[in-house]
Amino acid sequence: MTRHETRLQRREEVATGTMAFHFEKPAGFDFKPGQAIDVLLPSPIGTDPHGLRHTFSIVSAPYEGELVVATRLRDTAFKRSLKALPLGSRVEIEGPFGSFTLHNARVRPAVFIAGGIGITPFISMLRQATRDRSPQQRLLLYTNRRPDDAAYIDELKVLERRSETFRLVATTTEPVDRGGSGGLQPRRIDGPFIQRAVAHLAEPVYYVAGPPGLVEGMRRTLNDAGVDDDDIRSEDFHGY
Ligand SMILES: Cc1cc2nc3c(=O)[nH]c(=O)nc-3n(C[C@H](O)[C@H](O)[C@H](O)COP(=O)(O)OP(=O)(O)OC[C@H]3O[C@@H](n4cnc5c(N)ncnc54)[C@H](O)[C@@H]3O)c2cc1C
Repeated sequence: MTRHETRLQRREEVATGTMAFHFEKPAGFDFKPGQAIDVLLPSPIGTDPHGLRHTFSIVSAPYEGELVVATRLRDTAFKRSLKALPLGSRVEIEGPFGSFTLHNARVRPAVFIAGGIGITPFISMLRQATRDRSPQQRLLLYTNRRPDDAAYIDELKVLERRSETFRLVATTTEPVDRGGSGGLQPRRIDGPFIQRAVAHLAEPVYYVAGPPGLVEGMRRTLNDAGVDDDDIRSEDFHGY
């Protein structure tokens, strides 16, 4: 796999406890929306059984001039180091890699199911598709515990307004407090909910990304609803 050197340009909070890291895009770095990179951090702080290397889906789209990843900041050695990294620091990345990319037959719709931070590969796909004015039908079912956990939700609402072929359905699974639901539907994504949401789409291909428990549960739900495994692609975000 190709190794590149890059620099951290900036970081920003994109949801509660969730941060995006913007890196320079190395010259000649080509990737497809949905692919991932490994980020290798320079100096170990503390101990980490997996070393200071983590895999992240690329949030930014290929047309953009930077490489962005986003993650829930938890108290692990890697994430403490990433959060503490001074702007301008040199960082090595490896990649891109992965086949969690859109199917070629664009006449078939794409249904994206994102659990929490599993939204990252879909942001890249949706930004690129909007920019390309893709005629492909795209539906995103995006579930989070609380509205504040929903990274990139404001951008997704804008993308939905800008594209006639993209529809967003966002839900929360915990009771909503005084802050309000932010337009997100308080309910779980189950079989009947998916069937209603996709009723207008012919032969979609399903993409599921997020914590392994969610991915496994969604695969089972889709299978129970009669969706063939050949039409389901998934990405497990280990560690959640
Ligand atoms: C293709 C791909 C794309 C990803 N994209 C993102 C992303 O965009 N954003 C994001 O936040 N995360 C992403 N992840 C997950 C990410 O690599 C980290 O595992 C995750 O962020 C948790 O890191 P952590 O430091 O909090 O926990 P860690 O310390 O890494 O792990 C916590 C626990 O998970 C277990 N674990 C870790 N790695 C594995 C593994 N490979 N297999 C089985 N168990 C494991 C460990 O045993 C540990 O107990 C992606 C993973 C993959 C494979």
